[in-house]
Amino acid sequence: MSEPTIGFIGLGNMGGPMATRLAAAGYPLVVCDPSARAVAALVERGARSVETAAEVGAQAEIILVSLPTPDVVQEVAFGPEGLIHGGKARILVDLSTTGPKAAVQIAARLAESGITAMDAPVSGGVASAVKGSLALMVSGPRAVYDELQPVLAHLGKLFFCGDKAGLGQTLKLANNLMSAAALAVTSEALAMGVKAGLDPTVMIDVINASSGRNSASVDKFPRAVIPRTFDFGFATGLSYKDARLCVEEAEALGVPMIVGSAVRQMLAVTNATFGPQSDFTCIAKVVEQWAGVQIGNSTEKTSKE
Ligand code: NAD
Repeated sequence: MSEPTIGFIGLGNMGGPMATRLAAAGYPLVVCDPSARAVAALVERGARSVETAAEVGAQAEIILVSLPTPDVVQEVAFGPEGLIHGGKARILVDLSTTGPKAAVQIAARLAESGITAMDAPVSGGVASAVKGSLALMVSGPRAVYDELQPVLAHLGKLFFCGDKAGLGQTLKLANNLMSAAALAVTSEALAMGVKAGLDPTVMIDVINASSGRNSASVDKFPRAVIPRTFDFGFATGLSYKDARLCVEEAEALGVPMIVGSAVRQMLAVTNATFGPQSDFTCIAKVVEQWAGVQIGNSTEKTSKE
């Protein structure tokens, strides 16, 4: 049996490689993104490109979206040129991080058009998107999850989080807050050690063999902070959005988040200092500026040195 046509909207850092994997697996793709460059990369791999989400919704029953914010997902789904107007869509899989509140609203509105919403936020970053080794946190009706498994398995490992809309998003926000917290506290610890005279590479090697090991020490510092490339592939603006959504959700549930609130503020400062398009590893640069020290290999000095 031939593979079903998949609609893919949002071909950015994450969506681009995910769509590429589906094209390589033989799925006919119909894609849409305002970035001509992002679209061209998929068209080269055999995808059909269209101008609007409505056209995607006219050509595909299953539509995957990987978009920056909840507002953009709402616009793509329900706006004047939204996918609900296409008439063919049956399932919308939201791979973006949009938070449970938006997921519940989106699921309810899509149901009015006979479309089932599945939230399936992903974790693992660009490298995992390329390799197909993301973690996908999927929630929505179990039968639809079962139907989607062969498609989504090309993107990574699937975890069914429950039938209720938004559960996958809740888990994703918890994960991302922990990831950003690790980045922030590792920046502080490294700045302290370097200022005291330790070599940051030695620090990372020792920490990674010790109990302080975390996703920032294992991955982000060796790849993007110590070499001073600050190009891990996740925008500060998106990380800040995730921390905000997480703390808001915790407040709504009556769960205090003192550490989480501090992490959100660290991202607010990074966002204000380096801009929403900067890489979120720039959180380390904020700590460096405050500490008057530089973590990493370059001979470039910070302003306080
Ligand atoms: P990105 O900004 O690189 O990509 C977003 C894409 O959406 C862009 O290509 C943009 O042109 C497109 N887009 C914007 N408005 C659109 C519209 N109206 N119609 C169609 N396309 C539109 O962002 P990203 O890093 O790929 O992240 C996407 C989502 O995945 C976000 O919700 C993010 O929080 C989440 N996420 C990112 C990472 C990461 O490491 N980058 C990891 C896990 C989850």
